[in-house]
Amino acid sequence: MRRPRQQYASLVAEKNRDTTAITTGRNGARSLASDISTSTTWSSSGLDETHQEAVAGRNSKLYSRYTNPTVRQFETAIAELEGAEDALAFGSGMGALASVVYALCSPGDHIVAQQQLYGGTIAFLNGPVRRMGINVTFVDATVPGAFTAAAKTPRTMLVIAETPANPSLALADLAELGAIAVPFTMVDSTFATPMSQQPLSHGVNLSLHSATKGIGGHNDALLGVVAGEKDLIDAIWAYSVLHGASASPYDAHNALRGIRTLPVRHERQCATAMELATWCESSGNCSTVYYPGLSSHPQHQLAARQMTSFGSVFAIEIPGGIDSCRAFIAALQLIRPATSLGGPETLICHPATSTHFGLDEESLSGALAGDGLMRISIGLEHVDDLRNDLAAAFAASHS
Ligand code: PLP
Repeated sequence: MRRPRQQYASLVAEKNRDTTAITTGRNGARSLASDISTSTTWSSSGLDETHQEAVAGRNSKLYSRYTNPTVRQFETAIAELEGAEDALAFGSGMGALASVVYALCSPGDHIVAQQQLYGGTIAFLNGPVRRMGINVTFVDATVPGAFTAAAKTPRTMLVIAETPANPSLALADLAELGAIAVPFTMVDSTFATPMSQQPLSHGVNLSLHSATKGIGGHNDALLGVVAGEKDLIDAIWAYSVLHGASASPYDAHNALRGIRTLPVRHERQCATAMELATWCESSGNCSTVYYPGLSSHPQHQLAARQMTSFGSVFAIEIPGGIDSCRAFIAALQLIRPATSLGGPETLICHPATSTHFGLDEESLSGALAGDGLMRISIGLEHVDDLRNDLAAAFAASHS
């Protein structure tokens, strides 16, 4: 099924990506905002026309699980921002992940995945995926060559990476991933958004996002999306239409609106994250600050090579474990405890008890989601107010 990897440079929009975010995903209508196409089904002139629509599959006007005009606009926008031939949207990031895995892998196949992953992804790979008889090997993404070495079995079908990773901010080397001789490679690029990195330009087959996060950007759309070559996306569609994790046109509309401001939101959020991560590090209150933009990050050179900005999320580890984290979070007045990220509000979470809750000790330590670690997703508030809030919480967590 897979063609030799293309370098996607020729597909990357000639316009600046900031402009693409404004011009993309329009359906030719004169309205400037997207129209929400709410119909779940479309009528036809009779049996033959309905049959033609069924044959048309993804290009049909038949049934919204197959395809929906508003969702299609969102997919077009993501494809253009990712420099991809096509994209396919889902009802969530997990819906996208599950559809990719089950579309591409069969019992007896082997997946290589990094150990530093979002908790839901680890739980999915260790639970339902193994139960289907698909073997999974976890590797440390920060060890050069680890993916390549583990992907050598004759049945290795798919390599899964997440960079930067949730919540460790560990990076996977996109150039290494793009060069691995396996049928499929997929990168979860949620933390980077299409504004900070372009996995496909490194030869990776699929770039996946939880568009619930920075792409949607307003905490009002639950959405996943995967971008890549058209025939690969078509193959995933053929499975996903049966899997049924279809995207809602309402959420696609909200995410399209989010895309219009993604470049400016992301730029501001990255700048504030950089400033606050630097301040946290120099404040002496943290045992470690994890942010790829910091020169102290062990993979900072790699980040500088493959990212154009370093994302809106950083993590801090403070002495005193979970009790200190509880006191720290309780003392915050502006920053809200919540599990999502990439929206306008700055949010904090304690991954070990939330996003990564329920994982075994080995998975937790592999993901670096220890008891003392908190993940902070920077929003759009003024940096001074956020710094003041953090300073007060550091003081409270010591007392
Ligand atoms: N990938 C990453 C990196 C995430 O952080 C998340 C959710 O937090 C997901 C995937 C799953 O996305 P969703 O919640 O939209 O299903």
